[in-house]
Amino acid sequence: MSETHSLQDFPGTTHKVRVLLVDDQLIIVEAVRRMLADQPDIELHYVLEAAAAIPMALQLKPTVILQDLVMPFADGFDTVRLFRQQVELQDIPIIVLSSKDDPSVKAQGFAVGANDYLVKLPDKLELLARIRHHSCAYIHRLQRDEAFAFLRESQRQLAEANIELQKLVALDGLTGIANRRCFDQTLDVEWQRAMRHQHSLSLLFCDIDHFKLYNDTHGHLNGDFSLKKVAAVLTENLKRPADLAARYGGEEFVVLLPHTDLNGALQVAENCRRGVEHLYLENPQAPSGFVSLSIGVGCLIPQKGDICDSLIALTDRELYRAKGNGRNCVMAVESMQKQALGS
Ligand code: GH3
Ligand code: MG
Ligand code: MG
Repeated sequence: MSETHSLQDFPGTTHKVRVLLVDDQLIIVEAVRRMLADQPDIELHYVLEAAAAIPMALQLKPTVILQDLVMPFADGFDTVRLFRQQVELQDIPIIVLSSKDDPSVKAQGFAVGANDYLVKLPDKLELLARIRHHSCAYIHRLQRDEAFAFLRESQRQLAEANIELQKLVALDGLTGIANRRCFDQTLDVEWQRAMRHQHSLSLLFCDIDHFKLYNDTHGHLNGDFSLKKVAAVLTENLKRPADLAARYGGEEFVVLLPHTDLNGALQVAENCRRGVEHLYLENPQAPSGFVSLSIGVGCLIPQKGDICDSLIALTDRELYRAKGNGRNCVMAVESMQKQALGS
């Protein structure tokens, strides 16, 4: 994989063929230069010393390397090996240039990682054909890698956006807690689960007392702020991962407590009621003088044939009893246990 080169290294739509010639003989350099001189899509760079080959290739990012085999102080095979050891250079095509037309030398060249072998000096047509062939294959490979990387990145971003979207779809825009849609879906799931395992499922219906008057007194922006604070109190009072607090609509909230009996639900309800009272948000018209909650509590072990609306209906009835009972209090479903907690 060519991870370090990118298409930015080949600007424009027609990618330039970039040749790096590694040869100590200026006469060869000059001969190659002449052969390529009238090719506008090919640029030639060269180094005369093997030691300069790797640094030059790293800087230049050639699309093909022409490598001499016999150089002073260096063996061309070793230089090819060094190219292949560099992650940034290991996929660049290397054409060995040799004065020897010897099968064993060719075999050695391929064995150390060369892609092609030309006997010096090849004719112009052959040199151009080989340079173009190897360069194009390499550029296509870079383009393919770049396209795959782009695709992978797009897929990653899409997956992240989808997760974010799913969260947003489930959240209430003002308070940040679950919304009605999320509550409806969760209730369905928990209802089925409770029926399957014959566990009790509890529900709290919470309604802010005289909230219209609060808005009238303090304005809607302060009203919104209070809604956020109340939502936070509900969330703080939930201890189990499956518990869910949601905004049901307006100034009404619901709390779903799976695998929780009526006594447990009453405790949570009372903690929520007290928590809101202790926010001490002034509401002169409310019974305590502060923003308060009336809470209805319902609890059921769902039986075959029951529908979850029955839990909502009975919990709602308890909420209205709490309102009738002077507000700022908790009422539990009459059929199972009648209780009035709080003030
Ligand atoms: P009760 O004690 O009987 O529940 O009285 P209430 O005034 O709370 O009930 P009512 O249903 O008459 O009024 C609910 C008010 O809640 C109406 C509206 O001013 C307020 N409200 C509903 N949604 C929002 C909201 O998103 N932001 C604000 N600031 N107020 C809201
Ligand atoms: Mg209200
Ligand atoms: Mg209401």
